[in-house]
Amino acid sequence: MVQRTAIGGDGRWIVTVRGGVAAAELAAVPGGWAVFGGGLVVTALLAALILTLSRSRERALEMVTQKTCQLRHQALHDPLTGLPNRVLAIDRAEQMLARARRAQVPIAVLYIDIDGFKHVNDTFGHAAGDSFLRSVAERIRRLVREGDTAARLAGDEFLVLLDTVTLDVAPELVAERLLELLREPYDLTAEIGRELALSASIGIACGLDTSAEQLLADADIALYAAKEAGRDRFVAFESGMQTAAQDRIALEMDLADALADDELSLVYQPTFDLLGERLRGFEALLRWSHPLRGPIPPDEFIPIAERSGLVRPIGRWVLRTACRQAAQWRAQGHELSVAVNVSGRQLDHDDLVREVRAALSESGLEARSLTIEITETSLMRDPAASARRLQALKQLGVKVAIDDFGTGYSSLAYLRQFPVDTIKVDRAFVSGIATSLESAALVRTLIELGRTLGLETLAEGIEDPDQLAALQRAGCDSGQGFLLGRPMAPEGVAELLNDRRAAIAAWAGAGL
Ligand code: C2E
Ligand code: MG
Ligand code: MG
Repeated sequence: MVQRTAIGGDGRWIVTVRGGVAAAELAAVPGGWAVFGGGLVVTALLAALILTLSRSRERALEMVTQKTCQLRHQALHDPLTGLPNRVLAIDRAEQMLARARRAQVPIAVLYIDIDGFKHVNDTFGHAAGDSFLRSVAERIRRLVREGDTAARLAGDEFLVLLDTVTLDVAPELVAERLLELLREPYDLTAEIGRELALSASIGIACGLDTSAEQLLADADIALYAAKEAGRDRFVAFESGMQTAAQDRIALEMDLADALADDELSLVYQPTFDLLGERLRGFEALLRWSHPLRGPIPPDEFIPIAERSGLVRPIGRWVLRTACRQAAQWRAQGHELSVAVNVSGRQLDHDDLVREVRAALSESGLEARSLTIEITETSLMRDPAASARRLQALKQLGVKVAIDDFGTGYSSLAYLRQFPVDTIKVDRAFVSGIATSLESAALVRTLIELGRTLGLETLAEGIEDPDQLAALQRAGCDSGQGFLLGRPMAPEGVAELLNDRRAAIAAWAGAGL
């Protein structure tokens, strides 16, 4: 129904009015109902489409939000343990520091490292290592309170941030409790069929007007000091450690060049039969002459070499040089053997056996003229792997000695496992043999033990004739020490060897 009316005088405007289509009229229009029904269906479909689209948009939004949270969580947490990672730990530490500055009470950082964790991975595989780390994380998490943060930084390194503002105990006490908790055996029955006990070391740093990164660095330095002091303990950061750490880094950099710059050398300390009068051989001892600082004692630079991994190329050089030197003496007609110290870090790798073989074939030294000395402590870090590698060395025909014996508290059961020829009784016991009943009894027991197991005993650090006499009475096979001969440069050895009379005089002077 359409009505048109012209308006305006000249009729230029026409108003058109359309009315709704009544049902009757609809019926009157051909196909009207069909059009109307179709329209309804289209509208319903459109409505459904819009509804679905808006629902899936909601769902999509939800998913995006979820995924974002998940990614955020992943970016800030360690996937293995679920603990905050380094990034989040630093962020939390910065927040805590800001609060701490307002309250003027410092916060504390505990830097935790598991002693000897590498060996868990190396010996039992990564599955056991992962399970172990998860248990460590769980124990640390259990100890920290609300407001504090536990985090995993890397590998076996964990961190605890103590919000000292709310702390009612000193960080040292928390560290002590952590050490106790971490020392308890871990149940790895599913992975390795038994329990495992490891200790931890902790570095503590407290601060207020500092950055989180600096606080972590300080705690790391304190951790290093804890490791150096013998592990299984905590050490709190002191400013003096900073310079010590810088010194160490500088020394490490210098040590990296020392080999190439010809600053390393070997000195040789003679070993003697204690009953006869025979010079048996020499122990090769490493020396470093620093271009500015002068001689640096091995007890100072060998731990640096071990920590940095430099001990492997250096150890290779020591082996080759000592073998070449001994081969030369033997070629001159002296029936001598040489002993070379090998660090635990070298024993960690199968390369050691290859390197010993190479040093022997290069120098032409017979295998039986070489003794490899390994400290009791490094053997005990991973007794099974040590025994395996020592066995491989023995198969080459070289001899094996346990150095510094008596300091590592190894059980006798272990000693039987190791294919060794000699035990070197540590200087600490020898020095007390003539004055302390306890030391004397201990040395006698060690010598007796050696005899029972069919091992040779060698006493280290013999400094005076009373000690020598006591060792002879106890039946010790051989010995070395300042009394018998100091470590000397190859020229000194040549002199000693070439002038037999001088050697015999020195021997007589020693009271034999
Ligand atoms: P060590 O293998 O137990 O060597 C014996 C140490 O005792 C040597 O110290 C030696 O000079 C010292 N000594 C010998 N007789 C006496 C004595 O009568 N009295 C006293 N007070 N000391 C005596 P040095 O040369 O300073 O070496 C210290 C340690 O450094 C060695 O102990 C050894 O563990 C390590 N070392 C030395 N050279 C090497 C090396 O080439 N490789 C490795 N991995 N370690 C080495
Ligand atoms: Mg030695
Ligand atoms: Mg020793």
